[in-house]
Amino acid sequence: MRLDQLYRSGKPEISIEMFPPKTPEAAEKLFETVERLRRIQPAFFSMTYGAGGSTRNLTIDLCDRLKNKSQVETTCHLNIIGQSKTETRENLKRIKAAGVYNLLALRGDPPRDQPDFKPHPDGFHSSVELIEEAHKDPWFSIAVTGFPEIHPEAKDRAADIAYLKRKLEAGGCVIITQLFLDNAYFFEFMQHVRKAGITAPVIPGILPILSVPQLRRFAALCGSTIPPAVEKELAKYETNDEGAVQYGIELATRMCKELLKSGVPGLHFYALNRAHSTEAILSNLGLGI
Ligand SMILES: Cc1cc2nc3c(=O)[nH]c(=O)nc-3n(C[C@H](O)[C@H](O)[C@H](O)COP(=O)(O)OP(=O)(O)OC[C@H]3O[C@@H](n4cnc5c(N)ncnc54)[C@H](O)[C@@H]3O)c2cc1C
Repeated sequence: MRLDQLYRSGKPEISIEMFPPKTPEAAEKLFETVERLRRIQPAFFSMTYGAGGSTRNLTIDLCDRLKNKSQVETTCHLNIIGQSKTETRENLKRIKAAGVYNLLALRGDPPRDQPDFKPHPDGFHSSVELIEEAHKDPWFSIAVTGFPEIHPEAKDRAADIAYLKRKLEAGGCVIITQLFLDNAYFFEFMQHVRKAGITAPVIPGILPILSVPQLRRFAALCGSTIPPAVEKELAKYETNDEGAVQYGIELATRMCKELLKSGVPGLHFYALNRAHSTEAILSNLGLGI
């Protein structure tokens, strides 16, 4: 279903984010994971788009395979890092040719060695420009990102929310959030979102923890806080991935229960190409198979 039609049924819609694997073997594993997770009938699978590097070209091919071979609903991520307008327009054409209408339109993060975003000299300058471009074609239904803890590049909350509003005015219809580890951040964000008159569905992004060092890396990268209560638990599983996974399932189950109770229209899982934790969390929520 198109993103602009989804989130209307009153039942929480589950979406699952994957990333393009580096090897053909890992790609096959990814599709095994998709086969497993499709049994929970997610509203869509989404595929990230790298900020550079070899996996980048794979994103649209993998979306094509998801949509046309696996026949699951698919959302393609797309950013504008290091690409001319012609290249971006070519990407949009390829996404459409694959039959994929759902798009998560991003600016993307610059490479680590160039911390400040510099647009390609012939490229789009911002996510807003990408959203405007995609929105010219009614084929696309466009999701945008939201930042419960304020994006690290934003001057303050007001500026961040004002920019979010611009992304929606440009053609975005759904907001998917950055990961957070305390629902208080999400609830506070929602107050600002609604106060700004934004009525689009806001879908919390949930990260099932796979390992403590990886969580620390992601949190630092995204500017997400590790609350003291979570930190205390993580300290027990620093070198114990199995324990970390189990704790991650418990934490996400607790968070999702509260989020669902508050009426969120969906949950977006950063599944990291694994099935087990997402399955376990949804089963704990009574939303599994
Ligand atoms: C659900 C989700 C999926 C993601 N998938 C991917 C992916 O597939 N590939 C990838 O590379 N990254 C991905 N990311 C990471 C994302 O690119 C980074 O979080 C990035 O730092 C910001 O997101 P954005 O690209 O949507 O940027 P934007 O929302 O465009 O910008 C981030 C913030 O910077 C400020 N800002 C930016 N431009 C302007 C401007 N012109 N004027 C004023 N303020 C401005 C605003 O405060 C804005 O909120 C994803 C993030 C999320 C939450």
